[in-house]
Amino acid sequence: MDRRSFLSSALALGGLAALSAPGLVSAATGDKGSKGSAVGRLVRTDEEWRRRLTPEQYEVTRRGGTEAPYSSPLNDEHAKGTFLCVGCNLSLFSSKAKFDSKTGWPSFWQPVSKRHVREKEDRSLAEVRTEVLCARCDAHLGHVFDDGPQPTGLRYCMNGVALKFVAGKA
Ligand SMILES: [Zn+2]
Repeated sequence: MDRRSFLSSALALGGLAALSAPGLVSAATGDKGSKGSAVGRLVRTDEEWRRRLTPEQYEVTRRGGTEAPYSSPLNDEHAKGTFLCVGCNLSLFSSKAKFDSKTGWPSFWQPVSKRHVREKEDRSLAEVRTEVLCARCDAHLGHVFDDGPQPTGLRYCMNGVALKFVAGKA
């Protein structure tokens, strides 16, 4: 790479850094070229999250906590509708993919879209788990395991406190 193209790359990077300022960045204009960028990113300070969320929502979504099993009313929610991220309202799961896992946490065999969730290796316990986060606001949602029902064989084990249910078309 010659000096001039190095400089223009550096400028391009500077431009991207400016776009990552707090606030909603439109994926259509701000995030060209990177894979899985169908949703815009929502970035808020820790202080803002504390203000907007209840202490329980904050503990789970921003600090990776886990609610007590059978504590969420959404565990027993069987109506048709969509489960949204409590932090940013992104649609995450449809009632069509919900099943009773008998774990005490709302469970789904697939997300609305693979692009709406982000997966990350979690080594916080002896067993290595796969953490599931909201792709837009990085809220911790729960974990995904491979002991779920068909057709996917996956079990998205979610904290109900990280979700918001909206009844309607599933
Ligand atoms: Zn979110």
